[in-house]
Amino acid sequence: MPVVFSRWRARGRALFAAAVSVALLTAVAGPAGAAHRVGYEQVIRLTFPVAGPTDYIDTYHAPRGGGRVHQATDVMAKKGQKVHAAKRGTICWIPGIDGPMPSYGYMITVCAKNGRRYSYVHLNNDTPGTDDGKGGPEHAYAKGLEQGSEVVRGQLLGWVGDSGNAEATAPHLHFEIEDPELDDPRIQLDGYDPERINPYYSLRAAERRGDYPGQLFPR
Ligand SMILES: [Zn+2]
Repeated sequence: MPVVFSRWRARGRALFAAAVSVALLTAVAGPAGAAHRVGYEQVIRLTFPVAGPTDYIDTYHAPRGGGRVHQATDVMAKKGQKVHAAKRGTICWIPGIDGPMPSYGYMITVCAKNGRRYSYVHLNNDTPGTDDGKGGPEHAYAKGLEQGSEVVRGQLLGWVGDSGNAEATAPHLHFEIEDPELDDPRIQLDGYDPERINPYYSLRAAERRGDYPGQLFPR
């Protein structure tokens, strides 16, 4: 009897393990799971773009006035925290180096080879320790970066700030991903194209992996 009992117990454990596996697979593949995310909710394997403590929720699709919806994730952080490249690529937009800062603030767009574009917006425009708006590009962008610069994943790009239309808000990184292959029907066409990916899931996945600047890079 003890042998039969222990066999039964072993079979019970196996069945339990199978049930747990099914439950886990269901959780992963369910509507909220990564496996079934398509298009603009897909997870991209990237390095978390801000070093140090951050706070963020899923602000993609949040209303932003004028009928527009937010097309990025706002990663709240302290002014001056380092911003790093989430993916490698070429700097294809970095305004305000040779002229005044544009009204939308200091920002960098890194264009990846596969056509995706990663934008880092509201970089710092203040003299360190102030909110004077007089920091200039040297306090927004890492030294030496310019249009056409090649950057590697995890490389320092600049510093968190509140430039442009974030001047009246708490400092944060507006992190945006564009993908020419995609079309998010909820993003309106008023001056923006709908080729967006919600960065939120990719950011959370990077956190889960511990993929912070200098941690898992290079790979
Ligand atoms: Zn934003």
